[in-house]
Order: sequence, then structure tokens, then C-alpha cells
Amino acid sequence: MATSTRAGVLGDVSGWTAAAELDGGSDDCGSGLLLSITGAMRTIDIGQILLLRTEEKSVLVDLPAWARLAGHELLAVSDDGGGADGDAVQGSGPWRLAIMRGQRPGTTSTVVTDDAFSTGGAVPVGSRLWIYSNFHCNLACVYCCAESSPAADSRLFPVDVAEAAVEEFVAQGGRELLITGGEPFLHPELARLVALSAGRVPVTVLTNAMVFERGRRRETLESLDRDRVTLQVSLDSAGPAIHDRMRGAGSHARALAGIGLARSLGFHLKVAATLHEAELSSVATLHAALDNLGIAPEDRIIRPVAEEGFADGGLHISLDTVEPEPTLTADGAWWHPVGVTNPHLKVAESPLPLAPVLDIIRDVVAVQAAGASEGRQVFRCT
Ligand code: SF4
Repeated sequence: MATSTRAGVLGDVSGWTAAAELDGGSDDCGSGLLLSITGAMRTIDIGQILLLRTEEKSVLVDLPAWARLAGHELLAVSDDGGGADGDAVQGSGPWRLAIMRGQRPGTTSTVVTDDAFSTGGAVPVGSRLWIYSNFHCNLACVYCCAESSPAADSRLFPVDVAEAAVEEFVAQGGRELLITGGEPFLHPELARLVALSAGRVPVTVLTNAMVFERGRRRETLESLDRDRVTLQVSLDSAGPAIHDRMRGAGSHARALAGIGLARSLGFHLKVAATLHEAELSSVATLHAALDNLGIAPEDRIIRPVAEEGFADGGLHISLDTVEPEPTLTADGAWWHPVGVTNPHLKVAESPLPLAPVLDIIRDVVAVQAAGASEGRQVFRCT
């Protein structure tokens, strides 16, 4: 997934007022400049601007990617050496870059990339926990990593096991619970499962938003605590073409209706799209549609199809390629929620007790970290 930068064609820095300035001299991003920038960013508030001066041309290429990963926004670049019209990268420098701490509302990225999948930092093991409430689903999406469908064994997560897991999770410092499936609203006791969890930690329920329009599931939806429960709805594309091809005819319209209903009931909504790399060109129109739906940029997730379950191709998933996200199912514990059909990613044969599950995952991460740092030297001063 190559990344291309548009730093060269951003506007001039003169239109922006800096809250802090940093002279990076001839340092490049690999020789301490990023540490200096990170330190400088911590001295300003969200929305304020750091003006960076640099004589090193490679910074123009490397900094946009760093800013995107760090959640900041590169606003403007000027070539003080008088670069070619409208393209600072073509100039001789030195250059000045205006970097905003955080991003403007409505901004998805200042970097035009052909790898527009969402990025984010790994979270400490034990801070987030996933529970598969069930595996059956009203849909049978062609890329479903959980192999869910109307015919799938429901594998309902027992509420009393969930209660014990959440209690253990919170006691160990757990901060956030995510409930997925299958379609969680098909779990007959979802309301109780969510309520007992949301009383302890914020909860996000992942849903296709198609089954809670009426009846008992509508009652479940309406019972959920708007202050403690977020709904994350699957929506793959602005129009029905991609979404319906992957998830079934008519599913796009019903997902939109579900989003509308949830919004009308006052829920905090996130939207997640699952796409193959070849479909990434559709992301811009999806963002425009999400703007119209009032979904905040930080509440949008663009994720790749994972090569698991029903998926034919996609991102290869292994202990080495994805950060752990401890996940419980009725019949085990797993490295990551996209890997619950992969025996190589099964951590334990039972969801409880939780502590050894987290310990195993932490041990694996520690070994991986040790291996990754082998190329670095230990430099002791004492
Ligand atoms: S991807 Fe989600 S909505 Fe589609 S079948 Fe799987 S669980 Fe159901």
C-alpha cells in the first residue's frame, strides 16, 4: 500500500497563525526531528498550529505520513527558496510547514493516499475487550470473517459469563467493551448483556442496523443507555453498489434506515466500511455521504477485508501482522475479533478466566517487541 504525499501542492503558510515555532535545521525525520516535533506539539492546544522550519527536503515527504498517523493535520507548506509555482516540493528550501495539533472537523486527511484505510495506535493489552455475543446473522456477507449467516450456529454468549468477564476486566483496569457478532441484536438477552456491561465501562455495539426497527429488538434498542453505549453500523459505500454486492440486495437501504432510526433516538453513531483495496477509490464519496449523515470524521472507520472466514483474499491476519485485541466467544478466547474462525489465533478454550488470556497475549507481545528491537543497540550510561 504505497502512500503518496501532496505536501507540494498545499497552500502557503502565511495564512496561518502559529502558536509555536520550531527550527528543525537539517535534521530529517529519522534523526530526532520527530521527537522535537512531538515535544513541541505537546506545548500547544488542539487546534493550534506549530510552524516548522526545515532545510531537509525529505521532511516534506516523511512528515505528512507522520502527521496523519499521529492524528495531526499538515495545513500548508511554503518554500522560502522560491519553489516552482504552487509546488513547494520542487523548490530548494528552506521550507516552512504549518502543522495543526489534531484535525479540523470534517477533515479526513491532508494527505492524498491510495491506502485510505483507517489507522490508529495499538492500545495496551487489557484496556479493551471484545465479546462475540453470537454468531448468527440476518446477513451472509461474502467477506464475513466470523462466517456468520442466518444458518450459522448461534453460539450465544451467556449473560452470566459476560458478567463475570466484565467484572474481571474492570478489576484489571479495563476501559472499553465492544460487543460484536454475528448480529448482536439477534441475541435474545442483548439488553441485559449491554446493561450489565455499560454500568461498568463504555460499550460499543457493532450492528448492521437492519433488525431493530420494531418489536422486541426495538425495545432492546430503546433500552440502551445513550450516554454509555455507542452503535457502530456497517456501511460500505455511499450508494448501494458495493454494499449490496458484498452484503446482499437491499441491505444498503436498510442500513441507512437503521442509521436514521438510531440517530433519531439520540445514539452516538460510528460507521465502519469494509473494503478491498481495489474499492478504495469509493472512499471519497463515502466520506461525502457521511458528512451529509452527520457522522463525525473521527467516527468513521475504513477497514480492509481480512483474509479470514468467508473472505476470498484480503489482509493476511496473524500474530505478527495485527496488534492484539483480546476477544471472547462462548467457546474460547482469541487474539483478535477478525480471527475467531482461525485456530492459530485461539488463545484459550474458554472465555474465562480472563486473566490468563490477557497474560498469554502480553507475553507474546513482549517476545515480539524483544524480537523487533534486536536491531537496536542498548546504550547504557550507568
Ligand atoms: S459481516 Fe457482519 S453483517 Fe455481514 S454476515 Fe458477518 S456479522 Fe453479519
